[in-house]
Amino acid sequence: MPRKDRAPVIVIDGPAGAGKSTVAREVARRFGLPFLDTGAIYRAITLIMTRDGIPPTDSPELRGKLREFYISFSGVEVFAFGENVTAAIRTPEIDSLVSPYSALPVVRESLLEIQRAQMSRGLVAEGRDMGTVVFPDADVKIFLTASPETRARRRFDERIAKGETADYGEILRQVNERDAIDSTRDIAPLKAAEDAAMLDTTGMSLEDVVSSVIRLAGG
Ligand code: C5P
Repeated sequence: MPRKDRAPVIVIDGPAGAGKSTVAREVARRFGLPFLDTGAIYRAITLIMTRDGIPPTDSPELRGKLREFYISFSGVEVFAFGENVTAAIRTPEIDSLVSPYSALPVVRESLLEIQRAQMSRGLVAEGRDMGTVVFPDADVKIFLTASPETRARRRFDERIAKGETADYGEILRQVNERDAIDSTRDIAPLKAAEDAAMLDTTGMSLEDVVSSVIRLAGG
């Protein structure tokens, strides 16, 4: 239940393709709260680093870039250093490169403040470690899952809907690989907080998932 002394913080964690972004965005809209897509932050870091040829290892170059890093959001658009990177961070290439960067402790630490700074007006935040590390005092914690096949199918359908070509088998392989790295990393691995409500969305429509999350959030 939301606390009375501050605006509500609702967090949704889970693996790739569980539907977190779509669901969290809709829940935020219905509660009139800001929405924070933390995967977009890790993706933007990955884009900036790979463009500059900085590999996913803790180095002075990587630390220097992280110190300068600046991200902002406007509706569904994401800006890194003021450049609109909304489309550039959602390519198959970034999908395959993001997990090694997000496994670096120096990257995660540098992003903690950026994420927490967003909560003053309450928020709905989604990611991998929202309930465990970034917002451990969140009012509502939800962990969304779905079978790997369902999650790969959703990613495949999203790509086709955007008019892109897609290979289901390759997407399934990538989803499994990303989850394996995200779940086994030493720092802030993908895992449900002990006090999170688990919701398996296999076979559920978006509307059903949104209604369930809203019910769990007491709305
Ligand atoms: O959710 P999305 O697929 O956009 O996340 C991209 C990647 O960013 C994940 O595979 C994971 O490596 C990383 N991530 C993370 N912690 C978060 C959000 C995303 O490590 N809170």
